[in-house]
Amino acid sequence: GTAYLHYDCAMSELGGEKGVAGAGDDHPSQLREAIDSGRCFLVYQPIVSLDDGRLVGAEALVRWDHPVHGVLPPDAFIPLAERTGLIVPLGRFVFADACRQFAAWDARHGAAAPAVLNINVSPRELREADYAGFVAETLTLHAVDPARIVLEITESMALTLGPATATLERLRALGLRISLDDFGTGSSTLRLLHDCPVDEVKLDRSFTQAPASPSGEGRPPVAAAVIQLAQALRLHAVAEGVETPEQAEQLRSLGYRSAQGYHFARPVPAAQLTEWMTDRAPRPTTSPGSAATAP
Ligand code: C2E
Ligand code: MG
Ligand code: MG
Ligand code: MG
Repeated sequence: GTAYLHYDCAMSELGGEKGVAGAGDDHPSQLREAIDSGRCFLVYQPIVSLDDGRLVGAEALVRWDHPVHGVLPPDAFIPLAERTGLIVPLGRFVFADACRQFAAWDARHGAAAPAVLNINVSPRELREADYAGFVAETLTLHAVDPARIVLEITESMALTLGPATATLERLRALGLRISLDDFGTGSSTLRLLHDCPVDEVKLDRSFTQAPASPSGEGRPPVAAAVIQLAQALRLHAVAEGVETPEQAEQLRSLGYRSAQGYHFARPVPAAQLTEWMTDRAPRPTTSPGSAATAP
């Protein structure tokens, strides 16, 4: 078996369970200042191959280092950012900083660096007239190959896109890939797959964590249906929220190729993911260049 890194102590705090819900609600100006003064930062959660544990990608997840409440998870301030429009400057910071870091990893670690970077985006950002332009400029600035960026949009939020689906088309024309996050939790999943240009689905962790009953009885696993759907539609599928080796093995046997979750690693600051790359250089059995191919 593969020995996965487990981060404890300080890292579990960055995992975000202790969130102060709605912190800063009364003071959107605090968030504005936090964005401007660098108190918002990114952590990265590895996405690994279920076949061999290889690092195939990473997801950028934003945090706010609040002067009073400490490090806040996104659920404590993204809703505020979306209500106030601050999600636009916040999202620009996220995209730009993620691209900067990704380019730096690539330059220093080559094949050991993540092949793709997943970045979360809100519908509000996609409705900005120049969003695709901003993305194109930022990728050029950091010399990042658009084909190595996956933009994640939450399935339930994608329903609200309307005319902004045209922005997804523009982004895809630039070469980026689009992922439906928390997949399976929306109420119009098939409608959405039909209406939205999509390349990837991320199985919501509520289904990841119940891939099948050990006896094979009871409710049929949604995880099995989703991988079949993804294969039929030629979509990449990632299982989110894998917490046990049993879940990882079941998902692998269902046909999932990649996954993320606390079983493999928690979201960690960039420097710690850099260590992971140094410690886990590609195995000799890995064919040359395979780390650079799409998952
Ligand atoms: P998400 O995109 O679905 O990200 C996965 C969330 O699940 C992360 O929470 C991650 O820490 C957590 N997670 C990962 N593995 C496991 C596991 O094995 N078990 C459990 N219980 N949880 C796991 P996080 O970082 O608190 O982010 C929450 C949500 O906030 C994200 O869900 C995403 O929708 C949103 N978000 C994060 N960063 C950004 C951003 O930069 N922009 C936007 N618009 N939204 C963001
Ligand atoms: Mg996500
Ligand atoms: Mg998700
Ligand atoms: Mg989520």
